[in-house]
Amino acid sequence: MPVSTSTLDLATKPLSLITINTSLKRCTDGLIYYRMGEINVKLIPMPETLLLQLFQNNPYLWLAFVGLLSLLVGSFLNVVIHRFPTAMMQEWKHECNLLLGQNTRDNTPSPGLLSSISWPASHCPKCKEPLKKWHNIPLISYLFLKGKCAFCSISISPRYPIIELLTAALSMAVSWILGPSWAGILGILLVYFLVPMSFIDLDHKLLPDQLTLPLLWIGLIINSFDIFVSLESALWGAIIGYLSLWTVYWAFRLITGKHGMGYGDFKLLAALGAWLGWEAIPMIILMSAVAGVIIGLGFRLCRTDTDPEMPFGPLLALGGLVFLLYGDGTWQVVNRLMLI
Ligand SMILES: [Zn+2]
Repeated sequence: MPVSTSTLDLATKPLSLITINTSLKRCTDGLIYYRMGEINVKLIPMPETLLLQLFQNNPYLWLAFVGLLSLLVGSFLNVVIHRFPTAMMQEWKHECNLLLGQNTRDNTPSPGLLSSISWPASHCPKCKEPLKKWHNIPLISYLFLKGKCAFCSISISPRYPIIELLTAALSMAVSWILGPSWAGILGILLVYFLVPMSFIDLDHKLLPDQLTLPLLWIGLIINSFDIFVSLESALWGAIIGYLSLWTVYWAFRLITGKHGMGYGDFKLLAALGAWLGWEAIPMIILMSAVAGVIIGLGFRLCRTDTDPEMPFGPLLALGGLVFLLYGDGTWQVVNRLMLI
C-alpha cells in the first residue's frame, strides 16, 4: 500500500532526482517518480523491500523478470482467448433453455466460466492427446516442436507464440516506462486484460462483461489511491467514456439504421477512462479512429473486394495503451500516424 501519494512537478525538485531511465527518476529520499507524457509527474512510494530495491537498482533485471512472467501469462491468456467465448456461449444457451423451459438432453448445471477455462487440461485440438508439461512452456516448446503437434504433427497456429510475445513485449514496454512502481505493476495488469479482450473481440466481435466490468472497478479502486489519476478524474473518465460512444452509437443508429459498434465498446472505454482519467478519453478515441482509418485503408489496398467489419475493441485497447505509455504526448504519436 502506498504510504502517501501526491502529485509533484519535477521542475520543483531538479537537484534531488537521479535519472534511472527516460521516464523514471529516483529522488535522493528513495522515492520513485515517473512521468506520464510531458506534463504529469507522480510520486508513487512503495514499501521498501529487498526485491523492489534490487529491481530499482537493476532496471534490466526488472525488464527480464516482467518479460519472462508475461510469456507465462501470455500462455494462459491463449487459453482464455480460446475457451472463454465458447464457455460464455454455452452458458447463454443453457440460460436460454432454462428461460424457455425447454428440456435439453443435457440438463446438468453449467460448469461455470472459470472451471471451463481450467478444465480439461490443454490438449491438441485434432488428436485430443493431452499435452505434456514441457509442451506448455511458452515460445520454447513451439520452437522446439517446430510449430507442430508432438503426437499427430498437425501444424499449431503461430498465433499462440505471437500472443505470448505480444503480451511480453507490451508488458516490458509498460514496465520500462513506468518502472518497478505501483503504476508499473498495475499497468502490466492492464495489458493482461487488454490482450485477451482484443483477441476475443477480433475472433467473436464481443467484449465479455466478465472482463470489461472488473477492469472498470479495478480502475476506480486503484485510483482511489491516486495511482494514475485522481478518483474524481477516474469517475468522470468512466462516465464520459461510456456516454461518448453511447452517443455516437445512437446518432449513427438513428441516421443510418445500422449498428455501428457494440455495448462492449462503451464499457471498455468506460474502463479505460476509470484507469486513465477523463483527460485520456479524447486522445483514446482520436488514436483509435486514426488507427482504424489506417487499418481500413490497408484492407482496402490489399483486398479491394471485401470491407471487413472491424471490431473497435482492439483499437480502443491500443489507444489506451499508447496513452498509458505517452500520456499527453499521445498527441505527438497521433500526429506522426497522420503523417504516414
Ligand atoms: Zn495432435
